[in-house]
Amino acid sequence: MPTQPTLHPATLAIHGNRVYDSHLNAILFPICQSATFSQDTVGQAKGHSYSRVSNPTVDALEQAIAAIEGTPGSVCFRTGMAAITTLFLSVLKSGDHAVLSEVIYGGTVRLFHEVLAGLGVESSFVDTSNLGAVRAALRPNTRILFTETPGNPTMTLTDIAAISAIAREHGLLHAVDNTFLTPLLQRPFELGADISVLSTTKYIDGHNATIGGSLATHDGVLLERFRLIRKTVGSIQSPFEAFLTLQGIKTLPARLRIHCENAMVIAHWLEAHPWVKRVYYPGLRSCPQFALAERQQKAPGGMLSFELEASAEDTFAVMNALRLCTRAESLGSVETLITHPASATHGDIPIEERDRLGITDRLIRLSVGLEAPEDIIADLEQAFASVLQGNAVVGGSL
Ligand SMILES: *Cc1c(COP(=O)(O)O)cnc(C)c1O
Repeated sequence: MPTQPTLHPATLAIHGNRVYDSHLNAILFPICQSATFSQDTVGQAKGHSYSRVSNPTVDALEQAIAAIEGTPGSVCFRTGMAAITTLFLSVLKSGDHAVLSEVIYGGTVRLFHEVLAGLGVESSFVDTSNLGAVRAALRPNTRILFTETPGNPTMTLTDIAAISAIAREHGLLHAVDNTFLTPLLQRPFELGADISVLSTTKYIDGHNATIGGSLATHDGVLLERFRLIRKTVGSIQSPFEAFLTLQGIKTLPARLRIHCENAMVIAHWLEAHPWVKRVYYPGLRSCPQFALAERQQKAPGGMLSFELEASAEDTFAVMNALRLCTRAESLGSVETLITHPASATHGDIPIEERDRLGITDRLIRLSVGLEAPEDIIADLEQAFASVLQGNAVVGGSL
């Protein structure tokens, strides 16, 4: 079926990659597990030549992602970090400078500090929710603005349209890491961004079955550049992972509806709970950026963070007392996952810096899954009670 621009993203998630298998008419695009492809005559391949360069199953995934992004193409990688690394290797060289959100996935920080700095690339991590701070960080050698919104793990939002306007004014690229919301819930290109980054490991796959990433853009020259760097560093997605990810995408719109519904119920329950000190969720009216979330996002998403009225030790004990919510890194899957960002995803960041960003030892991040929300709440309640019962409640009554 040809992808028509009139179709909705929810339809494109299912039909965006129906290109194919002219041979067997298989509904699922087959796993094309072949390292190389024969040439009809010397040097004349039919389309694909070698699976480090391109592969039919990966192609199908790229078409599916491009369909939901609304771009002419996408480029898929073995991991989200490979996508992010390829983006920066594609647009930055020694002596260039990038401005990035300071509340951001820990791996992006590590890439700059541990790898790109040594290659002579400069970076500034700033509060991108503050436009003045972004403008102040610009240098004559700045080439790209990279924002993550909602930012991991405090859900700090960045105004994509406003940052895109700054980028245009200064002739810079603006890339958005849209992993937390996906193109179904946030449309970076419609807000003026140039590049969309996804870790497909999270909501796109949604089943904790694969690791992967993608880059999408309307700029054909950039797409070619991404493919060239991918071929050179060897970071293309594998056919099997692409196949599994293709199955995940089809239920993405349906899953996201329940993720959002459940997260809203749990956020309200946490907010009203006397042992909960604060809740970070863009769907709550108490969220200082609620208006921006309403304007920029189609829904608040399935990720939230909260702090208990408890010591760091008791916070750990509460997490360890959970029976249904699974202690694990990662997010965006059918299972509810619970993470301690200060010791896990953001463990490399110095403690003073973490405290300044709100990533305290007491912060808990919850990736709300598709279970019945009553069961998630019951699990949280029993864990809270088993550790905190008997503790003095600050300003609350039970
Ligand atoms: C997980 C994640 C990444 C990295 O993706 P991997 O697939 O784990 O390499 C990048 N950005 C965000 C926001 C993420 O959550």
